[in-house]
Amino acid sequence: MFDSRFVAIPWTRGANVFRLVNIAGRAALERDGDYYDLETRSGDPALADPMVAISRFDELHALHDACAIASPSGSLRDVVLDSPVPLPRQVFGIGLNYRDHAGETGAQLPPAPLTFTKFPTSITGPTGDVPLSGSMVDWEVEIVAVIGRAASHVPIEAAWDHIAGVTLGQDISDRAVQMTGVPPQFSLGKSFVGYAPMGPALVSSDCLESRDDIELWCDVNGERKQHARSSLLIFSIPSLVAYLSSICPLLPGDVIFTGTPSGVGMASGTFLAEGDVIDSHAPGIGALRNRCVAGRGPLPL
Ligand code: ZN
Repeated sequence: MFDSRFVAIPWTRGANVFRLVNIAGRAALERDGDYYDLETRSGDPALADPMVAISRFDELHALHDACAIASPSGSLRDVVLDSPVPLPRQVFGIGLNYRDHAGETGAQLPPAPLTFTKFPTSITGPTGDVPLSGSMVDWEVEIVAVIGRAASHVPIEAAWDHIAGVTLGQDISDRAVQMTGVPPQFSLGKSFVGYAPMGPALVSSDCLESRDDIELWCDVNGERKQHARSSLLIFSIPSLVAYLSSICPLLPGDVIFTGTPSGVGMASGTFLAEGDVIDSHAPGIGALRNRCVAGRGPLPL
């Protein structure tokens, strides 16, 4: 039986790390399966807001260390996590950013990052339900980069300095809406309520074996659908930050869905149905488990 409260969070390495989670709208740090309320740990009421905590991510390393000798606020097993980034001002999505995924769609490789938005109202937590908007709704597991420090015209070499950390996401996509008309409607087809699960934690890049080579996979009803590493991205995380910040300033808390590898349902004509369970995983970040439920489609025209 699926317990929606349980989200596996793996071991964390070293001392210079943090894992930021969101519990009922309050920022907390995760350590060894327990959570530590950030306002309680810091004495600063402003840090209760996850978006403020992200903008002050430099302070989170020391607060994470201090948790080692503090009493936890509770166990993650007893709570439901919300998205660690609940209200970004800008959500960027990148299409066709893995060579094999571009190949399975029959599209040419993009000469520049193919960029769209997911409107922030589509964000849900790591165990949030996905209300299906039709019969052509698809999964897309992705690494999500989270901006921590404002970035404008940032060179590639300096890009990681502007990133608070990474989390895992699903860029759920209604292919019927996305492919309505020419050119396609990427942003609307990917912005139904619940179509942007994120979490379980925003982790500093020190939590990862290699921040440029993050493994990720996606199972639907226990069957492996996607499996790749972020080192295979056509446009790497630093190059996305450099390119996007050369056009519009990136603000603390902004997120970039960096693109999905091959194995989406559209390639085989298989789509999500009510009752399906989507499991997503990235070692060092954690797992998402999202269940598909009945939803509402767009207004017929
Ligand atoms: Zn995507």
